[in-house]
Amino acid sequence: MRLRNNPKAYEIMEENADLVILKPEEHKGHYHDIFEINQPLYIEIGMGKGDFIYQNALKHPENNYIGIEKFPSVLAAAINKINKNQSLPNLKLMHFDAIELENVFENGEIDHLFLNFSDPWPKKRHAKRRLTSSAFLDVYHRLLKKDGVIEFKTDNRGLFEYSLVSFSQYGMTLKGVWLDLHASDFEGNVMTEYEKKFSSKGQVIYRVEAQF
Ligand code: SAM
Repeated sequence: MRLRNNPKAYEIMEENADLVILKPEEHKGHYHDIFEINQPLYIEIGMGKGDFIYQNALKHPENNYIGIEKFPSVLAAAINKINKNQSLPNLKLMHFDAIELENVFENGEIDHLFLNFSDPWPKKRHAKRRLTSSAFLDVYHRLLKKDGVIEFKTDNRGLFEYSLVSFSQYGMTLKGVWLDLHASDFEGNVMTEYEKKFSSKGQVIYRVEAQF
Protein backbone atom coordinates (compact mmCIF):
# COMPACT_ATOMS: atom_id res chain seq x y z
CA MET A 1 0.00 0.00 0.00
CA ARG A 2 1.55 3.30 -1.06
CA LEU A 3 0.80 6.43 0.90
CA ARG A 4 2.67 9.71 0.98
CA ASN A 5 5.02 9.80 3.95
CA ASN A 6 3.20 11.33 6.91
CA PRO A 7 5.80 13.14 9.07
CA LYS A 8 3.27 13.16 11.92
CA ALA A 9 2.75 9.38 11.87
CA TYR A 10 4.70 8.70 15.09
CA GLU A 11 2.99 11.62 16.81
CA ILE A 12 -0.41 10.21 15.80
CA MET A 13 0.59 6.81 17.21
CA GLU A 14 1.69 8.34 20.52
CA GLU A 15 -1.49 10.40 20.80
CA ASN A 16 -3.51 7.19 20.41
CA ALA A 17 -1.77 5.02 22.96
CA ASP A 18 -5.14 3.54 23.98
CA LEU A 19 -5.42 1.99 20.49
CA VAL A 20 -1.77 1.54 19.50
CA ILE A 21 0.61 -0.67 21.45
CA LEU A 22 3.73 1.50 21.34
CA LYS A 23 6.27 -1.02 22.67
CA PRO A 24 4.92 -4.40 21.55
CA GLU A 25 7.94 -6.43 22.72
CA GLU A 26 7.18 -5.41 26.32
CA HIS A 27 3.94 -7.39 26.15
CA LYS A 28 5.40 -10.62 24.80
CA GLY A 29 3.67 -13.52 26.56
CA HIS A 30 1.14 -11.19 28.28
CA TYR A 31 -1.20 -9.99 25.57
CA HIS A 32 -4.27 -10.80 27.64
CA ASP A 33 -3.17 -7.98 30.03
CA ILE A 34 -3.75 -5.26 27.44
CA PHE A 35 -7.33 -6.29 26.72
CA GLU A 36 -10.30 -6.01 29.06
CA ILE A 37 -11.18 -9.68 28.59
CA ASN A 38 -8.83 -12.66 28.24
CA GLN A 39 -10.16 -14.33 25.08
CA PRO A 40 -8.78 -15.78 21.81
CA LEU A 41 -6.20 -13.63 20.02
CA TYR A 42 -6.61 -13.01 16.27
CA ILE A 43 -3.93 -11.10 14.38
CA GLU A 44 -3.68 -9.64 10.89
CA ILE A 45 -0.25 -9.02 9.35
CA GLY A 46 -0.20 -6.16 6.84
CA MET A 47 -3.58 -4.72 7.80
CA GLY A 48 -3.25 -1.60 5.60
CA LYS A 49 -5.86 0.98 6.63
CA GLY A 50 -7.53 -1.49 8.96
CA ASP A 51 -11.10 -1.92 7.63
CA PHE A 52 -10.94 -5.72 7.84
CA ILE A 53 -9.59 -5.97 11.38
CA TYR A 54 -11.97 -3.26 12.62
CA GLN A 55 -15.04 -4.94 11.12
CA ASN A 56 -13.96 -8.31 12.54
CA ALA A 57 -13.47 -6.85 16.01
CA LEU A 58 -16.90 -5.22 15.79
CA LYS A 59 -18.59 -8.43 14.65
CA HIS A 60 -16.80 -10.67 17.14
CA PRO A 61 -16.58 -9.15 20.62
CA GLU A 62 -15.78 -12.70 21.84
CA ASN A 63 -12.24 -12.43 20.34
CA ASN A 64 -9.35 -9.98 20.74
CA TYR A 65 -7.77 -8.53 17.59
CA ILE A 66 -4.37 -7.02 16.79
CA GLY A 67 -3.63 -5.39 13.43
CA ILE A 68 0.04 -5.20 12.43
CA GLU A 69 1.41 -2.80 9.82
CA LYS A 70 5.03 -2.05 8.93
CA PHE A 71 4.60 1.45 7.46
CA PRO A 72 4.00 4.25 10.00
CA SER A 73 2.05 6.39 7.50
CA VAL A 74 -0.31 3.50 6.72
CA LEU A 75 -0.79 2.80 10.43
CA ALA A 76 -1.54 6.50 11.00
CA ALA A 77 -4.18 6.32 8.24
CA ALA A 78 -5.71 3.28 9.98
CA ILE A 79 -5.81 5.14 13.32
CA ASN A 80 -7.57 8.11 11.72
CA LYS A 81 -10.12 5.84 10.05
CA ILE A 82 -10.81 3.81 13.19
CA ASN A 83 -11.19 6.98 15.26
CA LYS A 84 -14.10 8.03 13.05
CA ASN A 85 -15.93 4.91 14.27
CA GLN A 86 -16.74 3.78 17.80
CA SER A 87 -13.71 2.61 19.77
CA LEU A 88 -13.57 -1.11 20.52
CA PRO A 89 -12.12 -2.68 23.69
CA ASN A 90 -11.06 -5.81 21.74
CA LEU A 91 -8.93 -4.08 19.07
CA LYS A 92 -5.29 -2.88 19.20
CA LEU A 93 -2.81 -1.91 16.49
CA MET A 94 0.95 -2.37 16.31
CA HIS A 95 3.69 -1.00 14.10
CA PHE A 96 6.47 -3.42 13.20
CA ASP A 97 7.73 -5.62 10.37
CA ALA A 98 6.61 -9.26 10.42
CA ILE A 99 10.25 -10.37 10.48
CA GLU A 100 10.15 -9.24 14.15
CA LEU A 101 7.19 -11.46 15.07
CA GLU A 102 9.14 -13.70 17.43
CA ASN A 103 10.39 -10.71 19.43
CA VAL A 104 6.80 -9.63 19.95
CA PHE A 105 4.80 -12.83 20.56
CA GLU A 106 5.47 -15.89 22.70
CA ASN A 107 5.15 -19.41 21.30
CA GLY A 108 1.53 -20.55 21.29
CA GLU A 109 0.20 -17.08 22.10
CA ILE A 110 -1.86 -16.53 18.92
CA ASP A 111 -5.09 -18.35 18.06
CA HIS A 112 -5.67 -17.29 14.47
CA LEU A 113 -3.83 -15.44 11.70
CA PHE A 114 -5.14 -13.36 8.78
CA LEU A 115 -3.08 -12.49 5.71
CA ASN A 116 -4.94 -10.33 3.21
CA PHE A 117 -3.56 -9.21 -0.15
CA SER A 118 0.00 -9.64 1.04
CA ASP A 119 2.79 -8.19 -1.08
CA PRO A 120 3.52 -10.77 -3.84
CA TRP A 121 7.31 -10.31 -4.09
CA PRO A 122 7.23 -11.81 -7.63
CA LYS A 123 11.00 -12.13 -8.10
CA LYS A 124 12.33 -15.58 -7.22
CA ARG A 125 15.21 -14.13 -5.23
CA HIS A 126 12.64 -12.38 -2.95
CA ALA A 127 10.53 -15.51 -2.36
CA LYS A 128 11.55 -15.69 1.32
CA ARG A 129 9.91 -12.30 1.91
CA ARG A 130 6.49 -13.64 0.92
CA LEU A 131 4.38 -13.90 4.05
CA THR A 132 3.38 -17.45 3.06
CA SER A 133 6.95 -18.72 2.52
CA SER A 134 8.13 -21.72 4.52
CA ALA A 135 10.38 -19.40 6.57
CA PHE A 136 7.30 -17.49 7.77
CA LEU A 137 5.27 -20.71 8.18
CA ASP A 138 7.97 -21.92 10.60
CA VAL A 139 7.44 -18.80 12.68
CA TYR A 140 3.62 -18.96 12.54
CA HIS A 141 3.77 -22.65 13.50
CA ARG A 142 5.62 -21.74 16.69
CA LEU A 143 3.52 -18.71 17.55
CA LEU A 144 0.09 -20.15 16.81
CA LYS A 145 -1.65 -22.49 19.24
CA LYS A 146 -1.88 -26.16 18.29
CA ASP A 147 -4.15 -26.61 15.24
CA GLY A 148 -3.90 -22.85 14.54
CA VAL A 149 -5.49 -21.56 11.34
CA ILE A 150 -4.26 -19.12 8.68
CA GLU A 151 -6.86 -17.39 6.50
CA PHE A 152 -5.39 -15.93 3.33
CA LYS A 153 -7.02 -13.88 0.56
CA THR A 154 -5.48 -12.39 -2.56
CA ASP A 155 -6.25 -11.32 -6.11
CA ASN A 156 -2.79 -12.48 -7.23
CA ARG A 157 -3.03 -15.87 -8.94
CA GLY A 158 0.75 -16.48 -8.83
CA LEU A 159 0.96 -15.74 -5.11
CA PHE A 160 -2.13 -17.86 -4.46
CA GLU A 161 -0.69 -20.90 -6.27
CA TYR A 162 2.65 -20.42 -4.51
CA SER A 163 0.86 -20.24 -1.14
CA LEU A 164 -1.25 -23.36 -1.73
CA VAL A 165 1.94 -25.29 -2.55
CA SER A 166 3.76 -23.76 0.41
CA PHE A 167 0.96 -24.68 2.87
CA SER A 168 0.62 -28.24 1.57
CA GLN A 169 4.39 -28.87 1.38
CA TYR A 170 4.57 -27.73 5.00
CA GLY A 171 2.07 -30.46 5.87
CA MET A 172 -0.81 -28.09 6.63
CA THR A 173 -4.40 -29.16 6.01
CA LEU A 174 -6.26 -27.10 3.44
CA LYS A 175 -9.63 -26.71 5.15
CA GLY A 176 -11.11 -24.79 2.23
CA VAL A 177 -10.05 -23.29 -1.10
CA TRP A 178 -12.06 -20.68 -3.00
CA LEU A 179 -11.06 -19.94 -6.60
CA ASP A 180 -13.65 -17.17 -6.92
CA LEU A 181 -14.71 -16.09 -3.45
CA HIS A 182 -17.29 -13.52 -4.50
CA ALA A 183 -19.05 -15.94 -6.87
CA SER A 184 -19.12 -18.65 -4.18
CA ASP A 185 -21.66 -19.36 -1.43
CA PHE A 186 -19.15 -18.38 1.28
CA GLU A 187 -21.02 -16.46 3.97
CA GLY A 188 -19.77 -13.70 6.25
CA ASN A 189 -16.88 -12.45 4.12
CA VAL A 190 -15.43 -9.19 5.48
CA MET A 191 -13.93 -7.18 2.63
CA THR A 192 -10.55 -5.46 2.87
CA GLU A 193 -9.71 -2.17 1.15
CA TYR A 194 -7.75 -3.97 -1.56
CA GLU A 195 -10.49 -6.52 -2.00
CA LYS A 196 -13.06 -3.75 -2.63
CA LYS A 197 -10.72 -2.04 -5.08
CA PHE A 198 -9.77 -5.15 -7.08
CA SER A 199 -13.21 -6.78 -7.14
CA SER A 200 -14.78 -3.53 -8.36
CA LYS A 201 -12.42 -3.83 -11.35
CA GLY A 202 -13.72 -7.34 -12.00
CA GLN A 203 -10.77 -9.25 -10.56
CA VAL A 204 -11.29 -12.67 -9.07
CA ILE A 205 -10.59 -13.01 -5.34
CA TYR A 206 -8.93 -16.21 -4.10
CA ARG A 207 -9.20 -17.50 -0.55
CA VAL A 208 -7.72 -20.39 1.41
CA GLU A 209 -8.02 -21.54 5.01
CA ALA A 210 -5.07 -23.70 6.13
CA GLN A 211 -4.49 -25.41 9.47
CA PHE A 212 -1.23 -26.60 11.05
N1 SAM B 1 -4.47 -6.06 3.97
C1 SAM B 1 -4.80 -4.79 3.38
C2 SAM B 1 -5.91 -4.95 2.35
O1 SAM B 1 -6.17 -6.10 1.96
O2 SAM B 1 -6.52 -3.96 1.97
C3 SAM B 1 -3.57 -4.12 2.76
C4 SAM B 1 -2.95 -4.87 1.61
S1 SAM B 1 -1.44 -4.11 1.03
C5 SAM B 1 -1.19 -4.78 -0.51
C6 SAM B 1 -0.21 -4.95 2.00
C7 SAM B 1 0.03 -4.28 3.33
O3 SAM B 1 0.89 -5.11 4.11
C8 SAM B 1 0.73 -2.93 3.19
O4 SAM B 1 0.07 -1.98 3.99
C9 SAM B 1 2.14 -3.22 3.69
O5 SAM B 1 2.75 -2.09 4.26
C10 SAM B 1 1.91 -4.33 4.69
N2 SAM B 1 3.06 -5.22 4.87
C11 SAM B 1 3.74 -5.81 3.86
N3 SAM B 1 4.74 -6.57 4.35
C12 SAM B 1 4.66 -6.48 5.70
C13 SAM B 1 5.43 -7.01 6.75
N4 SAM B 1 6.49 -7.78 6.50
N5 SAM B 1 5.10 -6.71 8.02
C14 SAM B 1 4.03 -5.90 8.28
N6 SAM B 1 3.28 -5.34 7.31
C15 SAM B 1 3.58 -5.63 6.04
